[in-house]
Amino acid sequence: MFGIWGHEKAAELTYYGLHAQQHRGQEGTGIVVSDGETLKLHKGLGLVNDVFKHANFKELQGRAAIGHVRYSTLGDKGTEVDSVQPLLFRSQTTSIAFAHSGNIMNAHALRRELEDSGSILQTSTDTEVLAHLIKRSTQANTEDAIVEALQKIAGAYTFIILKEDKMYVTTDPHGIRPLSIGKIGEAYVVASETSAFDLVGATFEREVLPGELIVISEEGLKSIRFAMREQRKLCAMEYVYLSRPDSDLNHVNVHASRKKMGKELAKESPVEADVVTGVPDSSISAAIGYAEQSGLPYEMGIIKNRYIGRTFIQPSQELREQGVKMKLSPVRGIVEGKRVVMIDDSIVRGTTCKRIVRLLREAGAVEVHVRIASPPIENPCFYGIDMSTKKELIAANNSLDALCEMIGADSLAYLSVEGMEKAIVRDKTIHQGICSACMTGKYPVTVSGE
Ligand code: SF4
Repeated sequence: MFGIWGHEKAAELTYYGLHAQQHRGQEGTGIVVSDGETLKLHKGLGLVNDVFKHANFKELQGRAAIGHVRYSTLGDKGTEVDSVQPLLFRSQTTSIAFAHSGNIMNAHALRRELEDSGSILQTSTDTEVLAHLIKRSTQANTEDAIVEALQKIAGAYTFIILKEDKMYVTTDPHGIRPLSIGKIGEAYVVASETSAFDLVGATFEREVLPGELIVISEEGLKSIRFAMREQRKLCAMEYVYLSRPDSDLNHVNVHASRKKMGKELAKESPVEADVVTGVPDSSISAAIGYAEQSGLPYEMGIIKNRYIGRTFIQPSQELREQGVKMKLSPVRGIVEGKRVVMIDDSIVRGTTCKRIVRLLREAGAVEVHVRIASPPIENPCFYGIDMSTKKELIAANNSLDALCEMIGADSLAYLSVEGMEKAIVRDKTIHQGICSACMTGKYPVTVSGE
């Protein structure tokens, strides 16, 4: 997600900001811009480049804009353009647009309530639920209506909401999904990842705090607390896999934390081998850390075709498998005749890992030792990452030995939860916790019946 307030080139900068975050979702994208009187929307299915190839930015004039890249999750599958965000709602007097990342866990119950009382919802997204809660609020102004609606929803979420004259920015009370604020001159920018700030020339100001609603307008920035500040539970998978290495999350650089995970992994699970290699791109940092700690050489044993999307962020298993086949190749000159330590950031469904072990063997590796730079993922995520059932999680249904055999490796080891925490958490105060529920089963937010 990206938002900007108070800049002549709001839509163009949003376009660049979305580019920097393309890895967060590849199914669709859109931008809504405000010229102070009306909101205009351009959106479509596909990558940022494709959707905006023929967009006329002269028609997207305005000093405020929000944008989104779509990644469908639990209960929100499908590739209809209607579900691509931002979602824009118009009434006779005003318009409002929403960009949302995460998952509203009580969306089904709220949807039923809204429909029972006469609301007609047009998409399957939980974002629309928040829009209707705001619309039906009896509060006198939008700010109070948003606070009232936020107090009804539970889950992991970040929202950027745009009206003609204001922008609203918020994260859930645990701050599970990341959202930061930066500045370009006098203009405010908001992004899921700080790497987007670097691309548009913005400087980082601060993170949006758990349970905080920020209102940005011509009067400047105002902060409201809509919920008690709970312990921060920033998603560990942001560090492990999702975020770009040049992003900082909770003041910790993603590359540095991955490298440290690799080092911890080498301490915990050393192995006699000739080379260390990492699965590009998100495992490279951990592989460098493993190599540094173990004293083994790091080599580029696997290369990636840059023009194929991420395998994990695809809506169906069929697309994922096709994606893996097309995107990774072993480097024979590096791995032939060698005992290879292959570092991967995580194993979710096992598709990629098994395929890469086979590719390395076909390229002549005599041994393949798989080391995973995060703990086993054994529980579903209900907070906006597409791991919705235990059935699909290979580590939840197999012992370590069985899993090692399934992926065809000579040995397999995971990083411990403690090792991962050492690499991510600087201190364990109330402000510094992480969510690791998919690994530990300790969910920071639960909703009965959902
Ligand atoms: S359950 Fe896992 S993927 Fe989901 S928010 Fe927590 S750490 Fe992230």
